Amino acid sequence: MHSITRKLFVYHAVLFTGCAGTTSVQAKSVPGTVSLSYIARLYSMKMAVFGKKVVLENKYNKLEVETNSRRAWINGIMLWLHEPCRKSGSDWVIREIDFKKGIDPILRAYAYVPKRMPRLVVLDPGHGGNDPGASGSVTKIREKNVVLDISHRVRKLLEAKGVQVRMTRTGDTYPSLDSRTNLAYKLGADVFVSIHADGAASSSAHGVETFITSVAGYDSSNFYGQAGDKDAQRNNTYDAMNAILGFSLQSNLVNMSKREDRGLRRARFSVIKKAPCPSALVECGFLTNPDEESLLNTASYRESVARGITNGILGYFTMVKRALR
Ligand SMILES: [Zn+2]
Repeated sequence: MHSITRKLFVYHAVLFTGCAGTTSVQAKSVPGTVSLSYIARLYSMKMAVFGKKVVLENKYNKLEVETNSRRAWINGIMLWLHEPCRKSGSDWVIREIDFKKGIDPILRAYAYVPKRMPRLVVLDPGHGGNDPGASGSVTKIREKNVVLDISHRVRKLLEAKGVQVRMTRTGDTYPSLDSRTNLAYKLGADVFVSIHADGAASSSAHGVETFITSVAGYDSSNFYGQAGDKDAQRNNTYDAMNAILGFSLQSNLVNMSKREDRGLRRARFSVIKKAPCPSALVECGFLTNPDEESLLNTASYRESVARGITNGILGYFTMVKRALR
């Protein structure tokens, strides 16, 4: 089966499952939390504890939550909760917002996707011009050039599927962060995806990750526990759809890149928190990791990553189409 078709099929297994018939979440003992046993009942899942993981499973989906941790997995793809899973009496609880604005939208996308077909995708190649972004430690390749090439590849792949695409930059220029999201607003974008490659102080850091806007009042994954602005942002209107889009992107990015899954994360990066539509920021590997730097230098890896991003966006489109039927 063609890879795009196969991956979309995999995601649709998620789409049609967990039909609990109600979105109401009331059975909770600690205010603002929901228990894992309640979630298990809602989705008719069996629940069991294996070491540090609570595993909820039915014949369609598997939800794993690490205890005393913010890490969870849906069908093997990691997502970071805003707050750790905690013990409460004989049960385990997570924040209600992590369920209602993360897990439930991913498992029951049809209940949350917009009621009209998305048409226009705005791609945002990160950095540019005087802002090179991260640099390779061996070859000195620059993030701004790598992500521009990946973005052009995504544009071509999406256009081949009949999707309208605009880019915030098509050459080595630096549009301000505000002008990138303003362009999406002016064009009436339905999806905004910012494309980056990572850099870290440690050369051992590696893998791919996807960021979506943090829910109002909660920390960013990368500044967890630190003081910072937690106000609601324009993009918080799309919290549930961000989770659906971000999870589709991360699933497909991991699948096509074959790199380690660093998870679907939360942050208040300017280009996603101000985006006027469902949005995500993808990190396609670490330029500061020698193995991933050499991969990011090859056309074949860039093409694989571009296919992952494309499949992620098309997966989101397909979920909307199915929900409209
Ligand atoms: Zn970047």
